[in-house]
Amino acid sequence: MTAIDTDLLVLGAGAAGLVTALAATGRRVCLLNAADSASELAQGGIAAAVGAGDSPRLHAIDTHAAGHGLNDDGAVRFACEGAPDAVAWLEALGVRFARDGEAWSLHLEAAHSRARVLHAGGDATGAEVMRVLRRRAAEALHVERLSGLRATGLVRGDDGVCGVTALSVDGRSFTIHARDVVIATGGIGALYSRTTNPECARGDGVAMALAAGARCAGLASVQFHPTALDVPARPLPLLTEALRGAGARLLDEGGAPLMRSAHPLGDLAPRDVVAREVHRAQCAGGSVWLDATDLRTTDVARSFPSAYRACRQFGIDPDREPIRITCAAHYHMGGIAVDLDGRTNLPHLWAVGEAAHTGLHGANRLASNSLLEAVVFGRRLGRALTQAGSAPVASGTAADGPRDEEVSPELRDLMWTCLGPARDPAAIASGIERLSAWRSGPPARALASPRLGLVVAMLRDAQGGGAAIA
Ligand SMILES: Cc1cc2nc3c(=O)[nH]c(=O)nc-3n(C[C@H](O)[C@H](O)[C@H](O)COP(=O)(O)OP(=O)(O)OC[C@H]3O[C@@H](n4cnc5c(N)ncnc54)[C@H](O)[C@@H]3O)c2cc1C
Repeated sequence: MTAIDTDLLVLGAGAAGLVTALAATGRRVCLLNAADSASELAQGGIAAAVGAGDSPRLHAIDTHAAGHGLNDDGAVRFACEGAPDAVAWLEALGVRFARDGEAWSLHLEAAHSRARVLHAGGDATGAEVMRVLRRRAAEALHVERLSGLRATGLVRGDDGVCGVTALSVDGRSFTIHARDVVIATGGIGALYSRTTNPECARGDGVAMALAAGARCAGLASVQFHPTALDVPARPLPLLTEALRGAGARLLDEGGAPLMRSAHPLGDLAPRDVVAREVHRAQCAGGSVWLDATDLRTTDVARSFPSAYRACRQFGIDPDREPIRITCAAHYHMGGIAVDLDGRTNLPHLWAVGEAAHTGLHGANRLASNSLLEAVVFGRRLGRALTQAGSAPVASGTAADGPRDEEVSPELRDLMWTCLGPARDPAAIASGIERLSAWRSGPPARALASPRLGLVVAMLRDAQGGGAAIA
């Protein structure tokens, strides 16, 4: 086992981890990264009230409405009020958001009352943001990167969390001791059979934190995207909501408008409403189609190049024919419970981005609010960590030896059946029973698997309808 000492260890180099590392200018940062990230796949963009007739107050009202009023108002106000400055900060770093002449080009997305989604490269906003953040992190003298290492568990000492165990791609074990540890490992979508998320989104950070005794909240709250391309691929290519903002329509098996009587906002209803409607139609045995052949002012190829390329890869011409779509696991509203600074209940453990639960999203995230969350909360956390200051690194013991289990197809099917878009109490109860059998049967090491522990906690949260789990 190789031992490494560092000052501030950030787990994950998606938008949240990179922004935190950049903002923690007073610290010596080690940035650990497993592989891919959801941030670079983000298409639609980043929400900010920067357009004429818009305001942070209206953005906050939309965020609360999409979240069914279960949002934390302090987190909502902080994010919506900080959004214009976050966009200016990204632009100053070098992000090139699209403009119409002098003004921002703003897209309208589902459940937003105003066009307020800044975007780049058509529908390749995440790639542009990540290009710039990665370059800035490579230039920053206080940031060192350790790529190809997957954290497997937290190390605890007398004074709280003091490091992680990790595995390299070639199977070597590491213990990394640090004064502070930030979990920025993203979401859980890869635990599902149908997902838009990359394989790194396996809930590692939340599972490790839960196993170490961190408080988590809203674990059963998962957002399903209504319009993933229905093709044999993993992850499923996403067709951005902005397509419906530009006039694309959802059609049922018989070609009738799917959302006509389901919600007053029709095709632009909140994500959870549309996803449930798509799921209902699929469970009834029908296919669901997205018809983008008659967009208002543009065509798919020109304005939505990522969506266009994905369709063409599977032989579909979205400018000429409807696209068969499916709902898919997309975003985890639940996570490690943190305050506005990103502080958890365990000393020296912090969390940010999709792995954290700030309460910003309530029961359902408003489209394009998660890149925003990564930037506004990442910057605040970086400043808080600079203020917390460095100190000698403590030593401690790992709860368990490092290992890296694959996510089995059985687990993915269980997630879809028990924690999918439609929740059935009987299916949830049988999921808990099946997991208990797996955990007590061979191989015995599954007993202590943090990942299975996370799934059990999610099922219990879904069963109890509770928002917080200790
Ligand atoms: C297809 C798609 C489109 C989206 N579009 C938008 C959009 O338009 N607007 C928007 O706001 N949001 C969008 N989202 C959501 C948004 O991209 C994510 O919620 C956000 O980027 C999460 O950022 P993050 O930094 O928390 O996580 P990520 O970007 O997923 O980064 C997590 C990092 O942690 C690393 N990691 C994971 N496990 C470990 C481990 N055990 N050890 C070490 N490192 C680990 C990963 O390799 C990665 O570097 C989209 C998501 C998807 C999947």
